[in-house]
Amino acid sequence: MQKKGMLVVISGPAGVGKGTLCRALLAQSTNLDYSVSVTTRASRPGETDGKEYFFRSKEEFQKMIENGELLEWAEFLGNFYGTPRFHVEAMLNQGKTIILEIDIQGGKQVKNLYSEGGVFIFIVPPSFTVLSNRLRGRGTESEEVIQNRLARAHEELENVKDYDYVVENNDLKEAVEKLKSIIVAENCSTKRVVFFSKEE
Ligand code: 5GP
Repeated sequence: MQKKGMLVVISGPAGVGKGTLCRALLAQSTNLDYSVSVTTRASRPGETDGKEYFFRSKEEFQKMIENGELLEWAEFLGNFYGTPRFHVEAMLNQGKTIILEIDIQGGKQVKNLYSEGGVFIFIVPPSFTVLSNRLRGRGTESEEVIQNRLARAHEELENVKDYDYVVENNDLKEAVEKLKSIIVAENCSTKRVVFFSKEE
């Protein structure tokens, strides 16, 4: 049985724990791939170029847009973020499942491109208090940035309905199990089967 590749878009407000969830998911699933985004924001302590993000200047980012190197891109609170096209397309052509951790503007663009081949998952916090505690607990951003991110989180949560699934990140283990279940089920969907071989 041959399968089409699958794009898994994971969105949700900043600070909801998307990064931690994705890392745990990838550590437990050998058959998943992750798309490393390009960003113009400064790296946070502990972040490495090419691992969490490809950190680039605004000029370099602009060039990537002009050269058609980005599958989608968006401006988020003054910085640019985008998904390199080449890696995602290569993975999909090989029938692989690839995770894109992107904001809702990016999610919309991907939905327009891959409404069939995409699975759209929105991560929500148990409450806004938990979200603001997590943002402050990171200790990497100024109060102004935190306030902007919280205001943006309120706007983002209004877009849950555009996604296929919603997962609350209260307990990390439970949330990862839910993500794994969604991916397993979607991989078994009749939408993903290309053909059955007569020989095998
Ligand atoms: P952060 O600065 O906290 O790493 O990310 C800020 C926001 O940008 C998050 O909502 C994150 O999901 C989103 N983001 C990260 N990479 C991309 C990308 O390639 N495209 C888009 N559209 N958003 C991204």
